[in-house]
Amino acid sequence: MAQTQLLSKNQQVVLEIIEKAKEPLKAYSILFNVQKKGIKAPQQIYRALDKLIEIGKIHKVESKNAFVACKNANCEITKATAFSICENCEKVTEINKPNLSKYLNNFEDKTGMRYQKYNLEFFGLCKKCRKK
Ligand SMILES: [Zn+2]
Ligand SMILES: [Zn+2]
Repeated sequence: MAQTQLLSKNQQVVLEIIEKAKEPLKAYSILFNVQKKGIKAPQQIYRALDKLIEIGKIHKVESKNAFVACKNANCEITKATAFSICENCEKVTEINKPNLSKYLNNFEDKTGMRYQKYNLEFFGLCKKCRKK
């Protein structure tokens, strides 16, 4: 469950910017946007980003080095995310498939290694781009 945690002012500002964006935002464009709101120090922004990731409000899309707001109200595992990324329009969607996360949570490889974290990215074409 996404807990209702009190966010600091910086965290709120950063979260709002990411939520409003239509695409994953890179740190520098977040910086650019917050500067207009009076937050000047990049360090403050990075701290706010870290905290938001930790509490599951946002996720990092590693291959794009960018941040997206969590779209799953019940994203339980903040360190286990899966995204689909369109190679044509670069649309990023958070995958919310209970059976996928269940499978991955119980996934064990031949050596008996089990995983607590994953950050998956699936690439392909979105519905819109496939029709073209
Ligand atoms: Zn999520
Ligand atoms: Zn597309």
